[in-house]
Amino acid sequence: MPVDVEGREAELISVPEDLVSLNARRQPWRGLKTHTTVCGVGALRAIAGQRGNFGAAILMYHRVTPWAAGLSEPTWNVPPECFRAQLEGLLREGFTPQPLRTLLMNQRAHRRLAPRSFVVTFDDGYENVYRYAFPILQQLKIPATTFLATAYMDRPDPFPFDDWAAKGNPEAAIAWRPLSWDQCREMQASGWIDFGTHTHTHSDFRNRPALLAEELRLSCLLLEEHLGEVQPMFAFPYGSRKQGFADDALIDAARQAGVCCALTTEHELADPAQDGFGWGRITAHRHDTAATLAARSDPWYFAARARWRQLRRFLRPERTAHVR
Ligand SMILES: [Zn+2]
Repeated sequence: MPVDVEGREAELISVPEDLVSLNARRQPWRGLKTHTTVCGVGALRAIAGQRGNFGAAILMYHRVTPWAAGLSEPTWNVPPECFRAQLEGLLREGFTPQPLRTLLMNQRAHRRLAPRSFVVTFDDGYENVYRYAFPILQQLKIPATTFLATAYMDRPDPFPFDDWAAKGNPEAAIAWRPLSWDQCREMQASGWIDFGTHTHTHSDFRNRPALLAEELRLSCLLLEEHLGEVQPMFAFPYGSRKQGFADDALIDAARQAGVCCALTTEHELADPAQDGFGWGRITAHRHDTAATLAARSDPWYFAARARWRQLRRFLRPERTAHVR
C-alpha cells in the first residue's frame, strides 16, 4: 500500500527534536576540534608514517549551494566553491575517487581497495546537486551517488524534514527544492551519477523496522520505474547508529527489503572486511578543506579516537556509561 505522506508529516517527517538540539550543541566547537585533528593526525603521520589502508572514506554531502545573502546559515550546506576546492584538493593529495557500486563489488569479490579511496554521496536529493555539484563532478571526473527520498521528487515545495529556518523564503527556495526525475535521468545519462534510495518519506524509523521495509520496497519500485536502478544502494535517513536510526533491527529490515547496502552517518571508514550493511560515512562540512577531510579519514585519526575513548571511559566511567 502506498505510504500516505501528507497524513504522517507531523508525527514522523519533521526533523526529530533530539537531532536539532544535538546539532546546535556541536556547532561552537567544530572549528577548534577540526584544527586540532589536522595537527594531531599530521604529527602522528610525521612520527610514525602511514598507518595502513583500513578502508574507504565515503563522503556525505547534502546541499551544494551558495549561501543566500541575509539569511541564517543552514546546516549541511557546502557552497560550490568549497565543494570544488575539497575535491580538487583530495585529488591533488593522491586520493582515488570510486563509485560506491565499485566499492561494494570489490568488497564482495574480496579485491583490494585502491589506496586512499574515496566515494562522494549526497543525501535527500536536492535540486542544487544538479545545479551546482553535477557540473563540478563532471569536470573533475568524479563519480557520485545520490540517495533520493522518492516521495518528494518533482515537487516544487521544500522537503518537510528540512531544518533550515529560511525555508519558504523565495530567494532561498530556488536551489534547495527536491530534484525532478528528468534531472536525475540527465545526470544518470552522463555516466557520473547514480542513484540510491533514502526511503520514500525520510521519516523517523526508530523502532519501526516493518515501516522501513515497506517504504524501501516502494522506493525501490520507483527507482526501477524511473531510473532502471535495480537492487539499489541505500542510506538511512538521519543515519546515527548510536541514536537508533540505524540499529540492528533496521539493518535487518533493509537486508530483507532488497537493497544492496545500508549506509549510516557514523564517522567511520567503510571497512572492506565487512559488507556494506552498516558502513559509516565522513560528513563533509562547509568549513572543511581537503586537508581536514584527509585528516578525518586517516587511519591515525580513528586509532587516536579509539584510545581517547578508552581513556575517557577509564577516567569518567559514570558519564560514559550513558553514552550510546
Ligand atoms: Zn536525509
